[in-house]
Amino acid sequence: MKVAGNLFKMRSSIKDDTVNYQLVLKDSVVEMNELIGKSLSLEFKNQINCISCGKKTAKSFAQGFCYNCFQTAPEVEECVLNPEKCRAHLGESRDQTWAEKHCLIPHYVYLAIASGIKVGVTRSTQIPTRWIDQGAWKAIIIAETPNRHIAGVIENYLKQHYSDKTNWRSMLKNVLANEIDIELEKEKALALLPAELQKYAKEDSTPLELVFPVDAFPTKPNSFTFDKEAKIEGTLKGIKGQYLMFDNDRVINIRRHNGYLVELDTED
Ligand SMILES: [Zn+2]
Repeated sequence: MKVAGNLFKMRSSIKDDTVNYQLVLKDSVVEMNELIGKSLSLEFKNQINCISCGKKTAKSFAQGFCYNCFQTAPEVEECVLNPEKCRAHLGESRDQTWAEKHCLIPHYVYLAIASGIKVGVTRSTQIPTRWIDQGAWKAIIIAETPNRHIAGVIENYLKQHYSDKTNWRSMLKNVLANEIDIELEKEKALALLPAELQKYAKEDSTPLELVFPVDAFPTKPNSFTFDKEAKIEGTLKGIKGQYLMFDNDRVINIRRHNGYLVELDTED
């Protein structure tokens, strides 16, 4: 099978207790779990199209945008990376209509374990997608807020005690940090908050565990990028987060290549 199109982060869902991935290339939906154990190649066709306006761009900014959209699109406003800086609740944003649907809606603050524990913020509609994209195998919601800004303020407090980053190498090597009791961490984290933020605590949440479709994990993950080489090929060993894991320890982050035009070739 040969299909071509611009890459965009894989869609995910949970099917038979396992994360199920789909890669959409133009009009084709490729069931990625079915390709595990098979050989395939992904070849870059030397063209990047902005995921917002579609125009060709020589370079991708913020995972898929042309420079102009990077400067203007609401999806890459400062508050995406720094939720506490979101000012949509004050009526200030690049696009208030977009903000009403994305910032001024319920948000969750969560703890997630990929290889270590981290704190994060996401729109309530993005669970469990957000956790899957990070390769977290266990996560729990700790607070629910009416907008992005307040969730960011809570996260900022907790950043003094928890990382807000995922170590992608450890995540891909399947270092689990089994010893962490996430429900106990939830209680600890909430106790660290000042009273005016504790009122957003989500008391009734329970941990979610995720199983990724993987035959074998890399021992020394070696990150492949189309910026250096045109083609990655080999046997697909598994998928975790937004990474495809090939034999010989090679891995590729699909999300990092949003907008890159590629051709996927599979053995049958
Ligand atoms: Zn653009």
